[in-house]
Amino acid sequence: MHTEFSLMINGEKVAGQAGSFSVINPATEDSIYQCPLSSVEQVDQAVAAASEAFKSWQHTPDEVRKASLHRIADRIEANAQELAEIIVTEQGKPMFLALAEVGGAVAWTRYTADLDIPVETIEDSEEKRIEQHHKPLGVIGSITPWNWPLMIAIWHIMPALRAGNTVVCKPSGFTPLNTLRLVELMNEELPAGVINVVTGEGEIGQAISGHPDIRKVVFTGSTPTGQKIMQNASGNLKRLTLELGGNDAAIVLPDANPEQIAEAIFQTAFLNMGQTCAALKRLYVHDDIYDALSEALAEKARSQVVGNGMEESTTFGPIQNQNQFNLVCDLVDDARNQGATILTGGEPCSDKGYFYPPTIVTNISDGARLVDEEQFGPVLPVIRYSDIEDAIQRANNCPVGLGGSVWSSDPNTASKIAQRLECGTAWVNNHAEVLPHAPFGGCKMSGFGVEFGLAGLLEYTQPQTLNIAK
Ligand code: NAD
Repeated sequence: MHTEFSLMINGEKVAGQAGSFSVINPATEDSIYQCPLSSVEQVDQAVAAASEAFKSWQHTPDEVRKASLHRIADRIEANAQELAEIIVTEQGKPMFLALAEVGGAVAWTRYTADLDIPVETIEDSEEKRIEQHHKPLGVIGSITPWNWPLMIAIWHIMPALRAGNTVVCKPSGFTPLNTLRLVELMNEELPAGVINVVTGEGEIGQAISGHPDIRKVVFTGSTPTGQKIMQNASGNLKRLTLELGGNDAAIVLPDANPEQIAEAIFQTAFLNMGQTCAALKRLYVHDDIYDALSEALAEKARSQVVGNGMEESTTFGPIQNQNQFNLVCDLVDDARNQGATILTGGEPCSDKGYFYPPTIVTNISDGARLVDEEQFGPVLPVIRYSDIEDAIQRANNCPVGLGGSVWSSDPNTASKIAQRLECGTAWVNNHAEVLPHAPFGGCKMSGFGVEFGLAGLLEYTQPQTLNIAK
């Protein structure tokens, strides 16, 4: 594995002025690396470098920017194995999933590279011509979480650069190394200062969200942190894209076939050990098939091989960090104490490492912490319902709204119900699928703004109306 990691400011590899911090392998709890820690002054330096680079990058022809992004995709591909090893070691996910994350990073980069920013003609008459253009904003601050660290960095950085902005990014302190390596690779293809990376937690995040020379912050993470960023961003009216927490509900109609849907439900609930923003997190199942589906899900859970992501046989890795591990333990213990049934799992797997088996909890309902709070981990509450209107009401009775889904053998009926869910993406017979061309974002306290597709790209631009009198 790569062993040299630095901050990158103005095209230079630099050490952290605030020292360093330990990056922990969640499978072993060993410290694997001392990561450089930025000072607030280094945030200022990175923003100054990005501001300087913006002067020319904003005018760089589209074709040059597109080609640069494709060459970056080539570099990511050429270093896929190494990047995946870094991800497994600091994030915990099994190797096949880390390779899929790197593959997704490449696909998103290429798709974003090929997008064109349209000029819309509003009027073209004898008197005047009015056009709407989209200009880059300036320096973008990107703050990312620890669950899909490389992919989410790509989701932030690539559309920002494609639209002509420059970037200062800050990865999560739990999983910084893959982003440091990514930015190093990107600097082999880009002019100095176009992409910079700093590290640290709240203090450095606040230095970014409050910085007067940053025009926009794109943030993926928890709702409380998103609220702090929004408050701190008001000084210069920063544009914001906030992709925050969710507590996605799925409703299974009585006509669904439990055997047919169990695998897809399991995969979308336990994707990345359940640590996925748009994972299925509350499962409402009709009384008629409640027992059959619960048991089919428990069977899928029991067949997982829990272990270190570097081992080939592993299908299910550890939880990423101690706090998240403690939260999952607490939520399951609380459910058990309230009389819920733990159909499978329900106890940590080992003394060392944050291993927790995929856990299915039944005989539980709204009001229990496991249902009402975002678990963001490998445990799924299965909630019984008998009246569909009641199920829809319970699904929507939630302060967040990222995704939702309806499962049925009748997609038309399911689609009508799906459209009544209060969420940014509603799936039918699927969940948690994100695609480079389909806009994705939350409603209510899951945030605002979208990522992906043309709509996502335009979030990194400022419209300018050009009115030409003839
Ligand atoms: P978090 O909010 O704790 O941290 C996210 C990032 O914010 C980290 O880089 C952290 O260092 C930084 N940060 C912390 N305090 C800050 C501050 N005061 N100002 C600026 N930045 C600050 O979230 P997390 O624990 O890393 O991620 C888990 C959460 O993220 C879950 O709630 C999950 O649902 C959400 N999430 C959402 C999406 C989405 O697309 N909606 C995707 C992944 C994760």
